[in-house]
Amino acid sequence: MTRLQGNVFNIQRYSVKDGPGIRTTVFLKGCPLRCWWCHNPESQSKGIELAINPAVCVECGGCWGVCPHNEPVAECTGPLADWAHCTQCGECVEVCPTGGRTMMGSLMTVDEVMAAVLKDRLFFEDSGGGITLSGGEPMVQPEFVRGVLAACRQQELRTAIDTCGYCQQDDLLSVAPLADLFLYDLKAMDEQTHREHTGVSNTRILDNLVALGKVHSNIWIRVPIVPGVNDHASELEALARFASTVDGIRRVDLLTYHQLGSHKHERIGKQGSERPEAVPTAEVMQSAAELFRSHGLTEVHVS
Ligand code: SF4
Ligand code: SF4
Repeated sequence: MTRLQGNVFNIQRYSVKDGPGIRTTVFLKGCPLRCWWCHNPESQSKGIELAINPAVCVECGGCWGVCPHNEPVAECTGPLADWAHCTQCGECVEVCPTGGRTMMGSLMTVDEVMAAVLKDRLFFEDSGGGITLSGGEPMVQPEFVRGVLAACRQQELRTAIDTCGYCQQDDLLSVAPLADLFLYDLKAMDEQTHREHTGVSNTRILDNLVALGKVHSNIWIRVPIVPGVNDHASELEALARFASTVDGIRRVDLLTYHQLGSHKHERIGKQGSERPEAVPTAEVMQSAAELFRSHGLTEVHVS
């Protein structure tokens, strides 16, 4: 029995995109990167934070009435939040009748996470699936990741970690023996491009992948193909060439950029970036896949 706690912002059952088979994906909070195309900006901050959803607001005024920072108003004007003064106290969430206000993230023990994922054991066994730790960036909470993975080992559940690779190398290597699969994101090889679009250098990410490949033989590389970032020949060539030199890579997934999630920044009181409307065409994705195959990476998937 372990009472080690982590900050979890979602547990998604029946996922078929986070590794083989049917999976339960546990999303942990906190990420050191700030990719502008992120689908889950509510996962980036390490803390528990308020999110509002205007689509389900019925303008009852409950949230406005309890917030210690609001003046009383005669008429509710909708689920506006005074983000500048919000202390994330959660009072307004308690009174909202529709789920228009929620707190993103909650502290869960390893045992609580295990109780949730074990409900799906039958699906895992039938489909070859298991549990995937994702985020945010799960390695922001390395001790909790080790705790969950160790508990999964005891239960003989298959495990995967979906990581951006930006973490302490010792932490990454310490979880390697406990995980059956790594889903490892690569965004750009050009250091300046990477820094500009994700907020951090790629040096640590690339070094960590090389080190991981020396001790783990089941790594799937995931490359989001993003307009203006890595959808041109020189970047794709550099990514494919690098991936072909790393040990342990069993598969490459090329993920087509899309705009989903672009509205989410506003819900947590943050400003999102302007996003291009154009998405990579099927031809661009297929020729990128061919490029990776031409470097000897035989299992390349486009989604
Ligand atoms: S969470 Fe923020 S908006 Fe909600 S009641 Fe507390 S201070 Fe006000
Ligand atoms: S409490 Fe919920 S439903 Fe009522 S005004 Fe606030 S967000 Fe809307």
